[in-house]
Amino acid sequence: MKVTFLGTGTSQGVPVIGCECEVCRSLDYRDKRLRVSVHVEIDGTSLVIDTGPDFRQQMLRERISKLDAVLLTHSHKDHIAGLDDVRAFNYLQGKGMPIYGTPKTLEQVKKEFYYAFEAQKYPGTPVLSLQELNENEFEINGIKILPLPVMHLNMPVIGFRIGDFSYITDANFISEETHSRLKGTNVLALNALQKERHQSHFTLEEALVQAKIINAEQTYFTHISHKMGLHQAVSKELPPCIALAYDGLTVTL
Ligand SMILES: [Zn+2]
Ligand SMILES: [Zn+2]
Ligand SMILES: [Zn+2]
Repeated sequence: MKVTFLGTGTSQGVPVIGCECEVCRSLDYRDKRLRVSVHVEIDGTSLVIDTGPDFRQQMLRERISKLDAVLLTHSHKDHIAGLDDVRAFNYLQGKGMPIYGTPKTLEQVKKEFYYAFEAQKYPGTPVLSLQELNENEFEINGIKILPLPVMHLNMPVIGFRIGDFSYITDANFISEETHSRLKGTNVLALNALQKERHQSHFTLEEALVQAKIINAEQTYFTHISHKMGLHQAVSKELPPCIALAYDGLTVTL
């Protein structure tokens, strides 16, 4: 399995439009963070988790020319805004794109991309094949995927465990039940927004506590704000098996 971090930034991305802070002005490529998403390639199957506003650019950068399904964590705009661009894969593959999400997430997709669900569709609109998921394990091309329900303030969000890789974003609470689903995970991607307290995201300190409980061999923090600080400086503060992810980072497991 190969995991590629397509984007590791919070909803505004880094740099933030109009911001002159040292992170937004940094020349380090690891301080340039598109909206959060990962690509997972496993046994010839190609999946993305979330399609934010930078989806097109991420597909082009990583030269991804085949996509079997999209997994959605939740319906916030920074996670679904790029969904229209699955059209490219509709044309290439000659079929609809399976989009997996909870009934609530898919309901929002139908609202925000209403034109893709009209009886008389305008030619060229995306073909989205909505696939409801719940908290039970499901399969795509024989690959088992275990949902990891977490909370994002008062909004349920789904993380995903694929083999020994687990991906959780936009959480500020992980239940005991989900902790038990995470047991034995080798590589964990977890959201860590910034050092300052936040109402709907783990701070760096809170993410470190969770990472220690989950105890993966390697943990990567993602969904990072410019307020976190420079990649290089923050990296020095982290224990050996915990690192900040950055755009383009690949992990093979
Ligand atoms: Zn988000
Ligand atoms: Zn900034
Ligand atoms: Zn969110």
